[in-house]
Order: sequence, then C-alpha cells, then structure tokens
Amino acid sequence: MGKATGFLELNRKDRSYLPPEERVKNFKEFVIPLDDTELRQQASRCMDCGVPYCHNGCPVNNQIPDWNDLVYTSDWKAALNNLHSTNNFPEFTGRICPAPCEAACTLNIDDNPVTIKSIECAIIDRGWENGWIEPEVNPNKTGKSVAIVGAGPAGLAAAQQLARAGHNVHVYEKHHNAGGLLRYGIPDFKMEKHGIDRRVEQMQTEGVSFHFDTNIGVDTKVEDIQAKHDVLILSGGSEVPRDLPVEGREVDGVHYAMDFLPQQNRRNGQEPIGEVEPILAEDKHVIVIGGGDTGSDCIGTSFRQGATSVTQLEIMPMPPEKEDKALTWPDWPLKMRTSSSQEEGAERDFSVMTTRIIGEDGHVTAIECTKVDDNMKPIEGSAFELKADLVLLAMGFVHPVHDGMVDALTLKKDARGNVAADTATYETSQKGVFACGDMRRGQSLVVWAIREGRQCAREVDLFLMGETVLPR
Ligand SMILES: Cc1cc2nc3c(=O)[nH]c(=O)nc-3n(C[C@H](O)[C@H](O)[C@H](O)COP(=O)(O)OP(=O)(O)OC[C@H]3O[C@@H](n4cnc5c(N)ncnc54)[C@H](O)[C@@H]3O)c2cc1C
Ligand code: SF4
Repeated sequence: MGKATGFLELNRKDRSYLPPEERVKNFKEFVIPLDDTELRQQASRCMDCGVPYCHNGCPVNNQIPDWNDLVYTSDWKAALNNLHSTNNFPEFTGRICPAPCEAACTLNIDDNPVTIKSIECAIIDRGWENGWIEPEVNPNKTGKSVAIVGAGPAGLAAAQQLARAGHNVHVYEKHHNAGGLLRYGIPDFKMEKHGIDRRVEQMQTEGVSFHFDTNIGVDTKVEDIQAKHDVLILSGGSEVPRDLPVEGREVDGVHYAMDFLPQQNRRNGQEPIGEVEPILAEDKHVIVIGGGDTGSDCIGTSFRQGATSVTQLEIMPMPPEKEDKALTWPDWPLKMRTSSSQEEGAERDFSVMTTRIIGEDGHVTAIECTKVDDNMKPIEGSAFELKADLVLLAMGFVHPVHDGMVDALTLKKDARGNVAADTATYETSQKGVFACGDMRRGQSLVVWAIREGRQCAREVDLFLMGETVLPR
C-alpha cells in the first residue's frame, strides 16, 4: 500500500469521453485517458485490503493491489510484468471489460471503487508505447502439436500459453482475421482492431501458425485436423442467435445484430463485407430489440451510420437506479446502467414485448408491442406501435453451432447445448479434444474467455507432458 491515506484524501476520478456529438462523427475510440499524476493518485486510493475482493471478483484474478502499488511508486515495468502474469491481453480487457473487479472493490461499498480498469489500461498502453512488450520465444520445443479452432480471445489466450510452453500451435479460423467477437462483434469505437493485429504478430514470432478463411467442419473435415495434431482445442464461441418468432419476422429489414455489426467492422477494417445485402441505418428509424451490450453496440453503430432515431426495447422491467449493497456487494449488481452508446441519444423502454412485425411491400414499416408485467405476461390494453425501417435483434445467443464440427465429433453437450467439459480438465467427451470460452460456458465475457483459454492451455500441457508449469 503506497499511500496509507490515499482513499481518505482523494475522490474517485475516472477516464472521460469525448462529447457524443463529437464521437459519433467516426468509429474511433473516444475515451480520454487520465494523465500520469491522476493515475498515480487514483492508484494510491487502493487500501491493499487484507481480503482483496477485487482480486476475487476478477475472472483472471489480476493481482490488483500489487499493481496499484507499483503504479503509485511509478514502477510501471514491474506493474506490466505483474499484469501479464495473469492476463495475456490486458489491452482488450482494459477497454471492454465491464470490470467486475470494480463492483467487488471494498471502496465500492460507498460507490467509490478504485479506477482499476483505467489503471490496467494505462499500464498495458504504456508497455506497448515504450516497446517493453517483446515476443517470448521458447527455444525448447516439445515436438507436440496442438490445433485450436477459433481465434477469439479464448483461442488466442490458449495459443499464446501453449506456444510459450514450447508446443507447435496451429490456429484455424473461418474468418479472414483473428479476434472472434473482439474483431467482428465489438465495434471499433469501443476497441480499435490494431491491438489484435499487434498480438497476432507477437504470437507468430512466438511460433503460432494462423490458418485463416478455414471453416473446420465445412471447408475442412475436423477429423483431418485431428489426425494432424496431438490435441484439438475447440474455442469456436457461441454463435447461434436467439430469434424472435413472431408474425412478420420474415419481412426485409429485420436482422440479427451479428449480421449488422460485423459489416461495419469490416468496412472500418477495409475488409470486403462479402456476398451479402448491405445493412445500413442511415436515415432510418431503428429499433433494437434487446437491452444488453450487443444492443448498445447496435445503437452506437446506428448513430454513427446516420440513423434518424434509435429505440431500444427490453422485455425485463427497468432495474433499480441503485443496488442494495448489503445484498449485492461484492457481486455484480443488477442496476440501471447507461452505456456510452445509449447516452448518444437512444430512447429506451422496459417491460416491452414485441408481438408482431408489420411490413409493406415486404419491408418492415413498424412493430407492434405490448407492455408486460413482472412475470412477462402482456398487460391488457397496453398495445402500441413503433415506426421502424430497420429492426435489429440483439437478444443474446443460445449455444454454439452444432452443424459441422461439433456434430462430426459426436461430442456430449450440456443442458443448454454448449460443448460439455468441466473446468478441472476442460476435456470434452472425446479424449484429446478440449473446449474453452463461449463454446464451453455459453455466451459470456472476454475476460472469462481469456481465463478459460489460459486454464485450458494448462490442462492441455499437462495432458501432453504429464507435468506443467503453466498457471491456472
Ligand atoms: C456484439 C457483442 C459485443 C460484446 N461486447 C462485449 C464487451 O464489451 N465486453 C466483454 O467482455 N464481452 C463482450 N461480448 C462477449 C465477448 O465478445 C465473448 O464472450 C468473447 O468474445 C468469447 O470469446 P471466445 O473466444 O470464446 O469466442 P468468440 O469471440 O466468439 O470467437 C470464436 C471464434 O471461432 C471461430 N469459429 C467458430 N467456429 C469455427 C469453425 N468451425 N472453424 C473455424 N473457426 C471457427 C469464429 O469465427 C470466431 O472467430 C460481446 C459480444 C457481442 C456479440
Ligand atoms: S478491493 Fe479495492 S481497495 Fe481493496 S485491494 Fe482491491 S482495489 Fe484495492
């Protein structure tokens, strides 16, 4: 603990944003970092708690009090090493993690948690700026070969850990670039994509081979990949979206969020959108169905494309403005949150069920809705219509794609349709086939994907070598 009275003397101050009218002009990141003095002050607020709930609340168990102290004493290099010891990609989580660590921080009991996420981001950004982050090439090769299907954060974390353990690692990815939902789902304004390219370059130097545009189970038989390697890791994500089975669903202009968002990310990355109908929000009344993060990403993207209006509908009731700390802390609380995209001008409504999509000449013109009670039962007489030129469905994902790879391997699934594997071994029902990330746990967060990729890598190393020094 660098400064014993830091938390008594200083208030929380976090990064700010460019104003909405400025930031919607382009797809660039818009967070304004804290300066050096502010960062050291904020780090000094950490109380180095006897039981650091932050550390427990963080899925990768970042050693938060340790690096807060190192930032306070300006030992940024040691802070970077510490951060990298638990997290392969802090530049991703420092930008897009919802920060369960901050919800768990003891100082959050009175709503003033340490600005952990901003400090994490500053440590890693400084590391890259100063050239402190080098490839870590293991000269001692094991001669074992690992195939990883899916280059999302889970697959990338597993690949980096296994290459550093000396294995020969091959990553197969159906898209043209690495990153999974980090690249094609999460918009550039939340995280620009050059950070992923930089990591791919680092990993290539560390010995990872990437095979892009290769859809396993479609272009290439999964059995052929299995035959070429000692172990197979499946990290293909949870890609089947939840549908809205109502009358009129088939009309033109109603799309899944993940048909809309990747197009814009590809445009930003100068990548062709492929042989698909362009979906654009310009001059349209946009309705986003689903009140979560994916819905927010649709809002921010729609505003940047020039939407006339954006309305977001959520079937659940409006959450309380403030959580009851005695009941929720140190867990993630359900409370009213306003994302930066919602702040850009979206209308929001809660307890709303969409009952019909109305079209003219085959194209959506409006949606019909009804208010629901807390048991999601329609309230009589509450039906209403909203004008709509574009409807985006952002209601989450049900499970991974089964057709192709998963079915060909005849893997057991859990009750929700995810690939079954426990977190002690990460091994599926087939020997030598492992699963991690959203493909195993269902739709989740980047930080959980990194955790699972790291832990799975350790179990794979143990499986191959009979011993391992990789951390869990
Ligand atoms: C729009 C959106 C916004 C999100 N925002 C956030 C956020 O702000 N913060 C956060 O923490 N989380 C966010 N998430 C969730 C987060 O992105 C995921 O939990 C995380 O990316 C899961 O990582 P993963 O590696 O398991 O899977 P994915 O990221 O889904 O990666 C899986 C990869 O496997 C590839 N693949 C699948 N099948 C095959 C195959 N048969 N052959 C070859 N390749 C294959 C896919 O193309 C993909 O590249 C968001 C999700 C979405 C959809
Ligand atoms: S819980 Fe908060 S104050 Fe306590 S060690 Fe963690 S970051 Fe510091």
